[in-house]
Parts: sequence; C-alpha cells; structure tokens
Amino acid sequence: MAGGAVADGSEPAVDLGNRRGYARGVTEELEQLLADRGALMRGHFQFASGRHGDTYVEKFRILQWPDITSRLCERIAGAFSGVANVVAGPTTGGVILSFETARQLGLKAIIAERREDGVAGREFRRGFEIGPGDRVLVVDDVLTTGGSIRDVLEAVEQTGATVAGVGVLVDRTGGKTDFGVPFAAAISLNIVSWAAEECPLCKAGEPLKLT
Ligand SMILES: [Zn+2]
Repeated sequence: MAGGAVADGSEPAVDLGNRRGYARGVTEELEQLLADRGALMRGHFQFASGRHGDTYVEKFRILQWPDITSRLCERIAGAFSGVANVVAGPTTGGVILSFETARQLGLKAIIAERREDGVAGREFRRGFEIGPGDRVLVVDDVLTTGGSIRDVLEAVEQTGATVAGVGVLVDRTGGKTDFGVPFAAAISLNIVSWAAEECPLCKAGEPLKLT
C-alpha cells in the first residue's frame, strides 16, 4: 500500500488506499482558508453539467493566492517526493501548479497545451523536451471530470516518458476518479449533486447561482 503518508501535523492519516491521507486538523484549516478567500462556496449552484449542488470551488480564487496555492502544492510535493524528475500541468491553472510543485521538489516544470492542429488533446510545445526515461508528475487544479488530466497523461505517454503520478489541489469527486497511477489530492471534497428536478434546494426555494 503506497498511501497513508502523513504530510503534516501529528494526527493520524486517513487511509485512502493508493490515495494519500493528510492530517485532519490541517485539512480543516486549509478548507476554512479556501472558504474565507471565496474559493470554496456553500449555497445552491448549477454546475456546467446542469446538475445542482450545494458546494462550488472557484479555482482561480485559489490560484490568485500564492500563499495558499503554495501550501496545497506542498502536499502534492510531499506525496510524490523522489518519484519524478519533471512536473507537467495543463494550461491555464496547471502552469502555476507545475511551477510551484516543481519549485518545491527542485525539478523542471513543463506545460501541456491544447493542440494547434484542431485535434482534441494536448501536446508539449515551446521546446519542452521529455522522452523515454523521464518520470512525470502530472498536476492540475480542480479535478471534476478528469478530462484535462487525461489529455496530459496521453501527451506524456506519446513522448515515451512514464507517468509517475497525478496530483491535484482539490478533488471534487471525493476519490472516485481512477487514472490508473498513484494519485494525491491536497483537498478531497465529496460534493453531493442532484438532477435539477430532484434538487432539494430548488424545492426549498433557495436562490440558484449559475457557475
Ligand atoms: Zn437546485
């Protein structure tokens, strides 16, 4: 079992299988910080999927704060210490995360961008060089569907490099997404959502915010 590392604090880690557990008190403090900064909102929201939920994560309200972004990246860096030689993230949020996580690990940071030829997926341009022998830690901000992460994984594999793991700031799927590689989330949220017609907040007459 690879998981179970306590990244900080003295409280016991939560056993999340191959997912890393973190000290509960520190997690609560970080979640409160996100809420205080307006990055983690409670209320009544309609997501891009059309479903309704009571929690929304505004990722650029995390990324606009270097102090909290750095603390979250520290958790990812701690979970993947010594397993990678390069960190890669997808534009746009992943640029910041790749930089900061790589800075903390003392590694190189590269960026995967949308392909220029109109084909779906991502690629490494701008002279970034990775290939066979490289072990890549893939990072992203908020994990919702995992689409952009899968695009980066594919871009890494196309170069012949190996994926060492995936780290995200916030896992909105509460640990339900499996990329088939070691995974760590600095914060894991199990966000409940409902089909619009079954939403209890609609039934209660709560004003709806579009996200
Ligand atoms: Zn609703």
